[in-house]
Amino acid sequence: KSGFISIIGRPNVGKSTFLNRVIGQKIAIMSDKPQTTRNKVQGVLTTDDSQMIFIDTPGIHKPKHKLGDFMLKVSKNTLREVDVIMFMVNAEQKLGKGDEFILEMLAGNPTPVFLVINKIDAIHPDELMGIIESYKERYDFAEIVPISALQGNNVENLLVTLAKYL
Ligand code: GDP
Ligand code: MG
Repeated sequence: KSGFISIIGRPNVGKSTFLNRVIGQKIAIMSDKPQTTRNKVQGVLTTDDSQMIFIDTPGIHKPKHKLGDFMLKVSKNTLREVDVIMFMVNAEQKLGKGDEFILEMLAGNPTPVFLVINKIDAIHPDELMGIIESYKERYDFAEIVPISALQGNNVENLLVTLAKYL
């Protein structure tokens, strides 16, 4: 099985940390180059039975100028063509404006969306249920997966679940 995965989410939620963990140092450094209008491959994860191609989808924030407008259109089209969208959020932060903007942008998109709640190492386990509920009422996620990209908690399970959608 082989397929394309787009990781989206506000800055600092842990997207690069996740890619670092699953693919390796070199690639995530590449992805931290300035944004371009082109969607680019951030890394490829090859396992025994699957190949996951992670695609950078720049411009997923409120456009401030015409180029931003164009980038958002390119990104929206990309999100229709990938196999899975990983929407990553920070467990430490409440659902904010930046998340709202992304959720509005995803509305009507036929691609399955994973809600990946990152940084669960930084919260009390009792808080997780409330976080899940607040997102659940905003979007019909295909899967909701709490992880710690930094410590590796549940990352393997996320990869196994992703592979089912390829
Ligand atoms: P990006 O902007 O979405 O690519 O976010 P980064 O991967 O650059 O991470 C932003 C910050 O969050 C860094 O200081 C990371 O070390 C930290 N971070 C990422 N994942 C985790 C996590 O699972 N737990 C904790 N506690 N911190 C994390
Ligand atoms: Mg990053």
